[in-house]
Amino acid sequence: MEQLSIFDIYKVGVGPSSSHTLGPWRAALAFRISLKNLSISKIETHLYGSLSKTGKGHGTDIAVQLGLSGLDPVIIDTDDIKTIINKIAQNGIHMLSHDIVMLNSKDDIVFHKITRQEHPNTMTFKAYQDGALVLEETYFSLGGGFVEKEGDNEVAVEGMVLPFPIDTCSDVFSYLNEDLRAVSDIVFENELAFRERGVVEKKVEAIIDTMIDSVYRGVQKHGILPGGLNVKRRAKALNDKLLQGATFDTLEDWLTKVKSSGVDFNSINQWVSCFALAVNEENASFGRIVTAPTNGAAGVIPAVLLYYMCFCNPDADRQTLMRYMLTSGEVGSLFKKGATISAAVGGCQAEIGVSSAMAAAGLTEVLGGTPEQVFMAAEIAMEHHLGMTCDPIGGLVQVPCIERNAMGAMKAITACNLALVGNPQDAIVNFDIVVKTMWDTAQEMNDKFKETSEGGLAYSLPVVIPEC
Ligand code: SF4
Repeated sequence: MEQLSIFDIYKVGVGPSSSHTLGPWRAALAFRISLKNLSISKIETHLYGSLSKTGKGHGTDIAVQLGLSGLDPVIIDTDDIKTIINKIAQNGIHMLSHDIVMLNSKDDIVFHKITRQEHPNTMTFKAYQDGALVLEETYFSLGGGFVEKEGDNEVAVEGMVLPFPIDTCSDVFSYLNEDLRAVSDIVFENELAFRERGVVEKKVEAIIDTMIDSVYRGVQKHGILPGGLNVKRRAKALNDKLLQGATFDTLEDWLTKVKSSGVDFNSINQWVSCFALAVNEENASFGRIVTAPTNGAAGVIPAVLLYYMCFCNPDADRQTLMRYMLTSGEVGSLFKKGATISAAVGGCQAEIGVSSAMAAAGLTEVLGGTPEQVFMAAEIAMEHHLGMTCDPIGGLVQVPCIERNAMGAMKAITACNLALVGNPQDAIVNFDIVVKTMWDTAQEMNDKFKETSEGGLAYSLPVVIPEC
């Protein structure tokens, strides 16, 4: 099986969709590099299947233009995106070959009605010079921002040998010993095969900071989300209510006030929802978030992280937070390897279900659970998302997506608590079985429930979204 780093699961990116925004963005960046020594005058992008059906709501056309322009989703100032797209329409795209290619997004980015056999998220780029085809490449967006070029496999790390290869949770148990007592110990050793210790630590820090920043930004913004569905942002109002009028100037100040704002069940429940809503409102408005394991599910891991930091262990050190990220990241990898993290392949169980299982596992470890309880928590969280369909209204990652993150976070906390008081020996279902069941369910699921907006709520509440 492919060997994955947790940084394949956690990627800093831009909303609203990992498979329909981040994936096409990275594919377009790759195509731009393929063109670097070629003289061209025109580029066409052809989008198929799920990418076409919900691509407009997910900003796929915008992502393609940004990728072809060589802009990096990790560092781009998301406030500039609208201006950049306007400039591309006026001035074209400056290629690495120094050609300037004019791009008319309405004609040159084609949303096809058909689905290609190879993958539900397929896109083909074609570059021309004076009407003659110069280069054509096809990419598949695999979910979670992963892309694969046709005939290639960019995901697999060729020749990479990890000290502790993990394909199942049973593998993890077999590596435990006096020195490696926790799931995160083993995951960290594997990460050292990819990068030096200091780099791993810095990258985890950056992921945590970006997650918390996305919550902090989200709780300060109000208004209507873009896309035409007229969905109101709610995180700020909830934050203000819970803080009872207390104001804050900095992130640290805000965190201090959240921690001291009340610890009754209802307050904590509302705070967890607030954290999750904040991230996914940012995601829905092309804000910076961390793909975890996808953009649509980006709020679950930060919401549970902040739940732990604010209400379980207000003095948590960075080392402990890193353990949360390592363990949760590994659970995401196991679903990617054994099933899918793509809604176009497996519905919402592959997004919110996986993120909930990841968060449940990470939380269980930092709350002192055994490795067996860690995987028990992940299993419980997924067990109660099995079969969840993907049905975003209007093709926008807003309804039901934003609230689903709050639900996923609460289920993760419940799963953790059940595992912490449970005996894994008594569990009827184990983690490896639930991964297989999720995959079996994905294969049996009707295609209209796989990020097409042709079933479920999207079908019951059809809306016409304006194109601009
Ligand atoms: S319904 Fe779930 S899987 Fe589908 S776009 Fe929304 S969050 Fe993602």
